[in-house]
Amino acid sequence: MLEATHSFIKQIGKKLNLSEQGIDRLLKPDAEHNFDIELKSGQKFKAYRVQHSNKLGPYKGGIRFHQNVNLDEIRALAILMSLKTAAVGLPLGGAKGGVAVNPKELSRAELEEISRQYVRHLVKFIGPDKDIPAPDVNTDQQIIDWMADEYERLTKDKSHASFTGKSLHLGGSEGREAATGRGGVIASARLFQHLGKPKQKLTYAVQGYGNVGSFFATIAQKEQPDWQMVAASDSRAAVYDPSGLDAKELADYKNSGKSFSDFRANGTRLISNEALISLDTDVLVLAALEDALTESNAPKVKAKYIVELANGPINEAAYQYLTHLRQGSVGQASQPVTILPDIIANAGGVIVSYLEWLQNKAGEHWPETKVNAELKKYMVKAVDHVYKSATSQNLSLKEAALAIALKRLTT
Ligand code: NAD
Repeated sequence: MLEATHSFIKQIGKKLNLSEQGIDRLLKPDAEHNFDIELKSGQKFKAYRVQHSNKLGPYKGGIRFHQNVNLDEIRALAILMSLKTAAVGLPLGGAKGGVAVNPKELSRAELEEISRQYVRHLVKFIGPDKDIPAPDVNTDQQIIDWMADEYERLTKDKSHASFTGKSLHLGGSEGREAATGRGGVIASARLFQHLGKPKQKLTYAVQGYGNVGSFFATIAQKEQPDWQMVAASDSRAAVYDPSGLDAKELADYKNSGKSFSDFRANGTRLISNEALISLDTDVLVLAALEDALTESNAPKVKAKYIVELANGPINEAAYQYLTHLRQGSVGQASQPVTILPDIIANAGGVIVSYLEWLQNKAGEHWPETKVNAELKKYMVKAVDHVYKSATSQNLSLKEAALAIALKRLTT
């Protein structure tokens, strides 16, 4: 993923005639923190925080707990954060953190121990005006609450502005949990509007029905009645019903801790994740993890639009294939896929994180309507800017989003 991110940035830099020196500088993070967390039980875990760039404001980025976390992945995700905050016009920089741990194998007490130790290692380098971490994969409000509490205990800072994604009673923002999914709906709707909505009903499939994917679908169900979800997956299986699935029912099912592999309901059937990717829907929403589409499965994609809600879900070869090389089954070129890129599509989370930070700094608590209205303003402005740049400079949406970000970061 790191290689793909670097190579894509270099390509765009060249295309835009940005200085090679400036691009090389941008590829290097400002600081890397690489340490071990050792629990009382003796178990050891690798932990990271990569602070990529604070040119536009304090570092900002999530912390993930996942067994596959490694330094290169965190480096790539940190660059993506800098590009994202720049592309949507936030006065924030980019960072990312992670611990190589499978949280499902730990007790609640051990998770708290890891969370607090993570902060003790980094306390000198983070804070409301330095680096403001947030949740990411497998890190929920509770984990952020432990981290924020540890930071406040060590520093006596009472602003609550050191972390975002906190629970409401600790200074969290209304609307934060749903923000990435909501932002994805706003961005997709705006893009379809620009493209001249292709048809009355749009069918879509969601790969990864976790926090982001399930909020995307439940908000779309309420606010975009013409969109119909026909499939949704978790890491084990996908639920499929060509006549439409109930997003709320599936979200309640997943929130009860069960896997789709045990889901049974009239009219639905279980299919594999690979089968979900190759469904003949209008839109494929990628909301699981990075590298979900590679050269091996991209040729199976039939959707006309892809929404990248996960970070980096399409690798470079798959991206090239989908946007340039896709061939019809009898060898004729078929329409390339329109991809709404991650740094725009999933920016809702960092936008509402920014709004949470602003509220904490001002000692305010905004109603959800105000938060959602502000989120919408940022998302619409970002999509409009990217769409306009893409059409005026003959770039793909991803190239245009990167171009906007790179200009802000290198000049
Ligand atoms: P999550 O852990 O809540 O959900 C991920 C979902 O994907 C789970 O349902 C999991 O079972 C499923 N999954 C994992 N591997 C899969 C596979 N191979 N096939 C199908 N499904 C699979 O995580 P999340 O917070 O929803 O984040 C999802 C993605 O969105 C990540 O890439 C994350 O970096 C990105 N993201 C999250 C936020 C946020 O606010 N949470 C913000 C921006 C980007």
